[in-house]
Amino acid sequence: MSNEQPTNGQGGRAGSGAKQTQPAQHGAAASLKIGVLALQGDFAEHIAILRRLGAEAVEVRHPEHLVDLDGLIIPGGESTAIGRLAGIYGLTEPIHKLARGGFPVYGTCAGMIMLSNDLGDSAALMDGKPQSLFGVMDIRVKRNAFGRQLDSFETEAPIAGLGAAPFPMVFIRAPYIEAVGPAVEVLATLAHGGPVVAARQDNLLVSAFHPELTNDSRFHQLFLDMVAAASQGK
Ligand code: GLN
Repeated sequence: MSNEQPTNGQGGRAGSGAKQTQPAQHGAAASLKIGVLALQGDFAEHIAILRRLGAEAVEVRHPEHLVDLDGLIIPGGESTAIGRLAGIYGLTEPIHKLARGGFPVYGTCAGMIMLSNDLGDSAALMDGKPQSLFGVMDIRVKRNAFGRQLDSFETEAPIAGLGAAPFPMVFIRAPYIEAVGPAVEVLATLAHGGPVVAARQDNLLVSAFHPELTNDSRFHQLFLDMVAAASQGK
């Protein structure tokens, strides 16, 4: 595992959508099609882990790529860049509507920032206006919350519903969740009663850390289970 920034498009090309033909490990995931927002950040790592779990994973760059998906992942990277590019490519409104309408969406790090509806005073100003968000989850997120000293670090902590084994957590200029609304279930805190780093609100799942940069696929499996449950109800 490295502390490399997941940003700057490094390894960001998942080929021209070339499919890997690995056997599905989980029967239910085999029929699920997950989009990964591929405007900026570490979308290739999410695609790789989803395919390892037997799901179909595709890059989302234009609104038409949202058609026929069962779920969507917003990767880590830089939320100001993702927000700006989502606007340019006409994705802000469609993703906002999908997420509001019960469609399963998982955001990691910058993706968590994009899903939150409140950045408090940590919002960046872009041309004098607060940065653009999908703004669907009732959480107040603080950007770059761990300060300069703890720019990037690794730790582990248990996650509700994922068994007793602690989950490896990679943080890179990470946000945390400062406050949650009544509909939000806290899934993980760093220390007992410490910063909230994973949460769920109905169809929305977020983590401040990057499970896609570890070999532990339990968090992505949790999302696929949410997606499977939602697609059964379709
Ligand atoms: N600090 C970044 C932001 O505000 C998030 C970092 C990350 O996704 N690794 O968008």
